[in-house]
Amino acid sequence: MNMEFDHIVVGGGAAGAIAARRLAELTSGWVALLEAGPDAVAREEVRDFRRFKEVKESGLARLLPILQPPVGNGRFLYPVARMLGGSTSQNTCIWFRPPASDYQDWVDAGAAGWGVDAVRPHFEALEQRINIETVQPEGPAHHALATAAQEMGFPPIDFATGFDAGWGSYRMSKRGVARESTAQVFLSPRSALPDNLAIFTDTPVSSLIFGADRHVTGVMTPRGAFVARREVVLSCGALDTPRILMLSGIGPADELARLGIQPRHALAQVGAHLLDHPAACVNVASRRAVTPDELWNYSGVLFARVENESAAWPDIEIQLGPELFEQQTAPAGFPSAPDGFTAYMTVNRARSEGSVRLRSADPDEAPLIDAAYFTDPDGYDMRVMMEGIRFARRLFGMPALNGWLGDELAPGSRLASDDELASYIRETATTGYHPGGTCRMGAADDPLSVVDPQLRVVGMGGLRLADASIMPTMVSVNMAAACMMIGHRAAELIAREKS
Ligand SMILES: Cc1cc2nc3c(=O)[nH]c(=O)nc-3n(C[C@H](O)[C@H](O)[C@H](O)COP(=O)(O)OP(=O)(O)OC[C@H]3O[C@@H](n4cnc5c(N)ncnc54)[C@H](O)[C@@H]3O)c2cc1C
Repeated sequence: MNMEFDHIVVGGGAAGAIAARRLAELTSGWVALLEAGPDAVAREEVRDFRRFKEVKESGLARLLPILQPPVGNGRFLYPVARMLGGSTSQNTCIWFRPPASDYQDWVDAGAAGWGVDAVRPHFEALEQRINIETVQPEGPAHHALATAAQEMGFPPIDFATGFDAGWGSYRMSKRGVARESTAQVFLSPRSALPDNLAIFTDTPVSSLIFGADRHVTGVMTPRGAFVARREVVLSCGALDTPRILMLSGIGPADELARLGIQPRHALAQVGAHLLDHPAACVNVASRRAVTPDELWNYSGVLFARVENESAAWPDIEIQLGPELFEQQTAPAGFPSAPDGFTAYMTVNRARSEGSVRLRSADPDEAPLIDAAYFTDPDGYDMRVMMEGIRFARRLFGMPALNGWLGDELAPGSRLASDDELASYIRETATTGYHPGGTCRMGAADDPLSVVDPQLRVVGMGGLRLADASIMPTMVSVNMAAACMMIGHRAAELIAREKS
């Protein structure tokens, strides 16, 4: 088999599947997509988005532990998908375009050319290929929650348009019950793919191969070496892209040397600046039995300013449903009930910065992940979450929910002071499943940058990154669409440079 290609994209997830497909469409060169996991689009638990919880346990995701923080919850695991489509094959298909202010922040952070006018055409192109549906669950409990949100003064909004604070129905990347993963939309059926695109599944890349002058010429896999005549694009996600760089000697030089890895290019910021949307819940028992909606049991999403009324954009996202989310509260000893309501809240622009580091030079060993939630020096993230809990309590007190609500199960109405709420949040906070920022994009001469605005690794040749790792600052909404935009744009940047 000829293992030589013009471009090699590593990782066929949200960004990588699209980058590979678009590169093959936009150029006449040979493109290889190397994916660590299998093609699982035909597996029923993957295809049917309602079975997303099963995917985590199916062997199609690596469940990575996090480091125990000095105080608080170290119990949760990051599920990192290992299959074509990446996390779009295991996620809940929620679809949001980030607001314009997010992209302005990227530009301000040095990502020249990534403003909203530049990224908009990519979202438009994606939405022409991916089927997006609005979901409105039916039933009295859903109706009561939607009315309560409006009684709080949050008008219904359409997330398909530019939006700000308000309550709206979920938009989801799906067709009926079938998820529209990037594997499904961009890599299936194989017979319809461009002839110049070759897909290698079950092909984990362990490291990069170098030529002269810090130039990457290929990648190493268990099948052998793959040679890239032009470029390698790493799209392995915010946890694995920095891992592969570090295993290849690109990263914090002292740390690599300590692990016995020959440092090739010192880039201290590789693996630093891990961002996420930390999540916590308010759970309340229901006095009435709730019949779950068979398709999707969350009533809708609310965006609000709770910490600062003049913030540029809402600071919290609250997903509301007549279903208890107890993954973290149950193990922490909080009570349950047969039926209940959850306000699942995430800090939109969380400022805490964690890290991903290598445990050893063994490519099969899980990395050290320090989520570092609520460690930002100013305490902003904690303030947003505490005010979010108070907001959710007010919302649950609205007249529309009279007759529905029983006891508050978590945090429990006896916890009211800042200290009590902070301690509850630390004990039960979990990942919003949105790691990003570990190889941030910025000006080439900024010591904080790992990639420049063309997504080229600073100081290297033949190597770009395209996935959630490049985000200079957190996007304010669920991240899949933004990651797909990055993959789409990466292909165009590369193709444009070639011509
Ligand atoms: C449980 C869960 C639910 C979520 N729900 C939503 C949601 O509803 N809406 C939303 O907007 N976002 C959601 N997200 C987040 C969103 O799916 C991710 O932010 C997005 O998929 C990240 O895209 P990516 O391209 O950076 O990485 P990924 O999509 O994770 O893709 C990385 C790919 O690289 C491959 N890979 C890794 N290492 C190697 C290697 N060494 N060699 C070869 N291949 C490799 C992986 O197998 C994977 O296919 C969710 C995430 C999770 C985990």
